[in-house]
Amino acid sequence: MNLTDNLRRTAEQYPDTVAVKMDDAEITFAQLNGLAAKTAGWLRELGVQPGDRVAVSLPNIPHMPILYYGILWAGGVVVPMNPLYKDREFAHVLRDSGAKVFFAWNGVADQAAKGAAEAGATFLEVDPATFSGQVLAHEPIAVTDRAAEDTAVILYTSGTTGAPKGAELTHANMVRNAEVCASDRLIGLSAGDVVFGGLPLFHVFGQTCMMNTAVLTGATLTLLPRFDPQRALEIIERDKVTIMGGVPTMYVALTQFPDRDRFDTSSLRRCVSGGSALPVEILRGFEEAYGAMLLEGYGLSETSPVASFNHADRERKAGSVGQPVEGVEFKLVDPEWNEVPEGSDGEIAIKGHNIMKGYFGNPEATEKVLKDGWFRTGDIGRRDDDGYYYIVDRAKDMIIRGGYNVYPREVEEVLYGHPAVASAAVVGIPSQMHGEEVAAVITVKPGMTVTEDEIQQYTKDRVAAYKYPRVVRIVDELPLGPTGKILKREIKIS
Ligand code: AMP
Repeated sequence: MNLTDNLRRTAEQYPDTVAVKMDDAEITFAQLNGLAAKTAGWLRELGVQPGDRVAVSLPNIPHMPILYYGILWAGGVVVPMNPLYKDREFAHVLRDSGAKVFFAWNGVADQAAKGAAEAGATFLEVDPATFSGQVLAHEPIAVTDRAAEDTAVILYTSGTTGAPKGAELTHANMVRNAEVCASDRLIGLSAGDVVFGGLPLFHVFGQTCMMNTAVLTGATLTLLPRFDPQRALEIIERDKVTIMGGVPTMYVALTQFPDRDRFDTSSLRRCVSGGSALPVEILRGFEEAYGAMLLEGYGLSETSPVASFNHADRERKAGSVGQPVEGVEFKLVDPEWNEVPEGSDGEIAIKGHNIMKGYFGNPEATEKVLKDGWFRTGDIGRRDDDGYYYIVDRAKDMIIRGGYNVYPREVEEVLYGHPAVASAAVVGIPSQMHGEEVAAVITVKPGMTVTEDEIQQYTKDRVAAYKYPRVVRIVDELPLGPTGKILKREIKIS
């Protein structure tokens, strides 16, 4: 059970089927297989050995699947990163994962090269115009054998607290989740399907549910580097897209797009939503407008990601994240890991084939979330009499802005770096556009002056564009609890 086996099997069965396309550029499964073998040859020349980590940071362009499968072919571990990262964010992940080699898209080469220099990793710029030529100049190598329990990818996420940690996922985790995801009761994917690739492939949702399922089944992945409803509709019409995965903000944009009737989207059969809560009106509005089934699922980077789903062959309940997928169990626990009484809310804990090995090189953090095979998610859930789960709240403070996770503590740490800031709290506020928006509330050190705009600019210079606060408020004091902890829930922003 191995991700490269999937590619090799599909390349044999459907050699001439288009595996990945972006506008006019197309790669067949036979070509993807060949390019992966040559990328692996290049990596071996660079000194990459089985088990070594190789980092990649690219938008959704065909080079992402080539590098992803090339790294796995060489026996390496893929460490994907968001190309919107700034140098210090790249450096953190490179250092923490111990990645030897870092491939980054030329559009972000500046920040990426700085991050690589800080971390002492070999930096290689991916210029889409010349990259395939570079790969083709290398000799292919035989695929490196990897066991099911070997690590395939390390995905950086903050989990419940603190700086980004690397969720270590094995080949078995990733293959089983792709199989479950592709099955009829979930996405229902097979050869001949065309999958809309608008979800970032560096994130677990796009990676497993779109890219790895397409490679598993022989479906075609059509990429869109930056989601935009008009472009999405053009692609759905042009490529006769049958399957789409997306975060709620994408479905909001598509449902509310005024000119949607100008496009022929009749090919769309099944769509899936995940990553944050799908508003019930959007679920109904989308299905009515597009005549395709929209199924909501739930999961995390640590769970490969799919953990529960509104299965296509059962009753679907709007507002629910459905039932645990095959081979996966849920329970609701209190902070001491005890199951809560029936009918009570509790933190969702998950067990099954999808649970990560742990956080890479971080046994303390792993111990907090993994016990006897159970993983605690930090999400507070409720179960109804039919065994359907509902996400009530997030135990963690994570803000989800337009599908991207923003970890308040990370932004707070930057704010605390400003000389005039005395205390800082970052919270999510409701936003029609992005679901949630990042807001910062600060107090200023006595005798210092600073403006809200200056604070905003300061964070904007230091974190990825989706993380900096769009709203900054300077207040006299922040609400504090008995231990001096800032009580975020009591913060009101006008
Ligand atoms: P990530 O690790 O980036 O995939 O983020 C995982 C988090 O996204 C979960 O812990 C949830 O808080 C949230 N999430 C994922 N799917 C859903 C959903 N269907 N409804 C509500 N929250 C979700």
